[in-house]
Amino acid sequence: MAVGDLYGVLEVSKGATREEIRRAYRRLARNYHPDANPNDKAAEERFKEIQHAYEVLSNPEKRREYDEGPRSFFGQSPQGTYGGNPRDFGDLSDLFGSFGDVFGGARGGARGRPQAVRGDDVTVTVNLKFKEALEGATTRVSAPVEEACEDCRGTGAAPGTAPRPCPECAGRGVKSRDQGFFALSEPCGRCGGEGTIVEKPCPRCAGGGRLRKNRQVTVRIPAGAKNGTRVRLAGRGSAGKKGGPPGDLYVTTQVEEHPVFERRGDDFVVEAPVSFVEAALGAEIEVPRPSGGTLRLKLPAGTQDGKRFRVRGAGAPKIGSSRSRGGEPGDLVVRARIVVPKTLTRREKEILEALADERDEDVRGELLRLSREAEEAS
Ligand SMILES: [Zn+2]
Ligand SMILES: [Zn+2]
Repeated sequence: MAVGDLYGVLEVSKGATREEIRRAYRRLARNYHPDANPNDKAAEERFKEIQHAYEVLSNPEKRREYDEGPRSFFGQSPQGTYGGNPRDFGDLSDLFGSFGDVFGGARGGARGRPQAVRGDDVTVTVNLKFKEALEGATTRVSAPVEEACEDCRGTGAAPGTAPRPCPECAGRGVKSRDQGFFALSEPCGRCGGEGTIVEKPCPRCAGGGRLRKNRQVTVRIPAGAKNGTRVRLAGRGSAGKKGGPPGDLYVTTQVEEHPVFERRGDDFVVEAPVSFVEAALGAEIEVPRPSGGTLRLKLPAGTQDGKRFRVRGAGAPKIGSSRSRGGEPGDLVVRARIVVPKTLTRREKEILEALADERDEDVRGELLRLSREAEEAS
């Protein structure tokens, strides 16, 4: 994912329609909502970022501004834009109903004053094998960050020279315009609000004071990571400006799909074929275990198609459980799928016909009775 890529955050293309953006947002917000991921810090961070991306991309004016000059958005961390606890939104229906109002005044801050600027947050994606995500892994990522140029130490001025205070605004970065009763401040046009001007730009960074680099970072992915789990490495993002602190590096995990296990929160779901005889009589069946090997599961007699069985603790470890202790791992949910034989031998057929005679059952009686009653009532 590119640095500060709001489209990437919402997993949509740059040309996405408003409707596509809205749908992507709803899907992601539902997945990462804190209510659906209790005590999952990474999900919460991701949730905030999703909200930030949606706030910008759902608003035509902000989106145009972002498309034209994404740099102006880089310095805004998701927290900076949205400072509250996600729970303040209440349930999801509230959230989807009125985000426009909620975010109305979110963008603010002093404009144009030369001051320390926090470095950009940088997001990179790391691909993990199923087992790595389940057990945790230490991996190296290459993060595209901006660092202060070594030649000019970030000032942008050619070595041997230094930026000097802007004469136009006396180094304030803003200019006041008298409007009668009050003075209006606007960014200084000469220095672009920087407060300083560079007369001889540093050749290495062309006066920007910054260079783009790929920083190699070792990151510890916690056991139980899933798609979209975000690990925050504080201060490992881009360097700050004018003495500001560096941004953070976020590593988002992308987990390889497993052929049989489907991840649902901290649980895994597996579908187990069960013969109709096993389902009727009850059986002890062998099913695969996410951590490897198999486990045995007792099915009661009369197991119905689609019935789910929970194997406690056989799912994924809860992220952060090592810190808080007592964090129970998720479960393995086994869904029974009744398999009916496609062909029968002559003897099997006789046995089943004998069974049909024996039971002489009326399985659709209820269905037909209900529909008849409905018909008569109308
Ligand atoms: Zn330089
Ligand atoms: Zn100026």
